[in-house]
Amino acid sequence: MIAKKPALGPLSRHRLIVLDRDGVINHDSPDYIKSPDEWTAIPGSLEAIARMNRAGYRAVVATNQSGLGRGLYDAATLNAIHAKFKAELAKAGGTVDGIFICPHAPDEGCACRKPLPGLYHTIARRFDIDLAGVPSVGDSGRDLEAAYAAGCQPWLVLSGNGPSTLAQGKVPPGTVVWDSLMAVAEALEGHGENEDNG
Ligand SMILES: [Mg+2]
Ligand SMILES: [Zn+2]
Repeated sequence: MIAKKPALGPLSRHRLIVLDRDGVINHDSPDYIKSPDEWTAIPGSLEAIARMNRAGYRAVVATNQSGLGRGLYDAATLNAIHAKFKAELAKAGGTVDGIFICPHAPDEGCACRKPLPGLYHTIARRFDIDLAGVPSVGDSGRDLEAAYAAGCQPWLVLSGNGPSTLAQGKVPPGTVVWDSLMAVAEALEGHGENEDNG
């Protein structure tokens, strides 16, 4: 069962948020994002991250980039794509504290390709925190499954694959649905310190 925009549950006091990249921050493509030119922000997404930062949240990205494992682009190109993302985000007044990447193709059998939670475990170790109550925003079922498996709060945003993910209804228990990343930022902004838990 999906609750649309319920009152926020107990969120982590650590004020970290995990974001999927394609379909959440930038427009996705069935042909993969293979160059900086192909990376274009979803309107409002960068401003939303900046707003999360102003609300005291560190944002990190967790993204499957199987295009690396498939040989569609190389690590230098992915770095250039992320340089463009970070530069545009900085112009909007925001920053991310890390971009965590699964570079593997599906047949490589790694532990980090979502829906597996490996990237989340790496994030937990890097920030030395428990991920319980850490919100994690994605547009696909595998994002939500990985978040849920890691103990995060699975939040579905209705950009990218979000509408079809919602229509299919196969989401983890407790999934919260948001219209946009800006709606997420506004909710976090309204979530005062005295409401913190954990
Ligand atoms: Mg996505
Ligand atoms: Zn992987």
